[in-house]
Amino acid sequence: MASEKKVILVTGGSGLVGQAIKNVAEQDPREDETYIFLSSKDADLKDPAATEKIFEKYHPTHVIHLAAMVGGLFTNMKHNLDFLRNNILINDNVLQNSYKFGVKKVISCLSTCIFPDKTSYPIDETMIHDGPPHSSNFGYSYAKRLIDVQNHAYHQQHGCHFTSVIPTNVFGAHDNYNLEDSHVIPGLIHKAYLAKKEGKPLMVFGSGKPLRQFIYSLDLAKLFLWVLREYEEIDPIILSVDEASEVSIEQVAQMVADAFKLEQGIVLDTTKADGQYKKTASNNKLRCYLPDFQFTPLKDAIKSSVEWFVQNYDVARK
Ligand code: NAP
Ligand code: GDP
Repeated sequence: MASEKKVILVTGGSGLVGQAIKNVAEQDPREDETYIFLSSKDADLKDPAATEKIFEKYHPTHVIHLAAMVGGLFTNMKHNLDFLRNNILINDNVLQNSYKFGVKKVISCLSTCIFPDKTSYPIDETMIHDGPPHSSNFGYSYAKRLIDVQNHAYHQQHGCHFTSVIPTNVFGAHDNYNLEDSHVIPGLIHKAYLAKKEGKPLMVFGSGKPLRQFIYSLDLAKLFLWVLREYEEIDPIILSVDEASEVSIEQVAQMVADAFKLEQGIVLDTTKADGQYKKTASNNKLRCYLPDFQFTPLKDAIKSSVEWFVQNYDVARK
């Protein structure tokens, strides 16, 4: 029996994660799946009328909801109110229109940086609402936590199948490589690119001691498609590399410097903030579903991201 046709609307389809999903979906096209990748040029999803128009135009059966105001530690610290308001508006418009237009499944995107600051480790899916988030990004965190609250409320009141995933720090092609606003890996890649040209060392912000689990965007995209096709829970699922793959910022900076063959090495600027020390996440739930999933080794994924940035320097977001 032929399976039902899916029309999958990907909000935030022009960004890091959206472009990775596009890449992976194109590698393994399925007859029953049609994807639509949106950017903010198609509709400002903060605007209820513009959001409704997009749903009217495409009548999606499924939504992968990625669109968000996103940024690294330093931009979050400066714009907590904007992160809170913009993300609340975007999420409310997307989820309410998904309900109104009878979307069968929505997968939204949370992040491991929204978990309580004071917590036990490793963090898991049950702990999202257990205490205040880190003060550096409380705006983004509370807006994202609300998605999980909304998902349960839509399910309880209307029986909707709205769920969410919780990735750790993501990086890869099509990332935001802006020196001020970016996350750590794209920021370091851009800085290393300039340092190489100028024969200088790579300047790393903070003590280099914080710990992070990084997931390559193409690995995350494969997991997203698995969630789209197979995952039935309303409760979120952490999409992360294993705990043993956690690395320090200094180790990651060294990998970036090595990928550029930087002769001057790295220098730590300890006058800059460290942010959260760690947010070690358990991927036990994911491993129960997919015990054999292979993550790309971090060094290889950083090398590929460096190659992409160098080859796409003129068009990269920076
Ligand atoms: P990104 O590269 O910055 O992309 C953001 C996307 O959202 C872009 O497509 C952007 O469109 C769109 N967007 C922003 N504001 C919009 C608006 N008002 N209306 C419509 N579209 C809008 O972000 P990303 O890293 O791919 O993040 C995707 C999702 O993953 C987000 O929900 C984020 O919170 C989550 N996440 C990211 C990370 C990470 O480390 N990057 C970690 C955990 C979770 P334009 O291209 O037109 O601007
Ligand atoms: P977070 O994981 O949510 O805290 O966000 P980031 O991806 O911005 O990572 C922040 C960590 O990387 C902090 O410990 C920063 O001090 C450190 N870091 C080192 N150099 C940079 C840089 O150039 N940009 C950013 N965003 N962070 C950096």
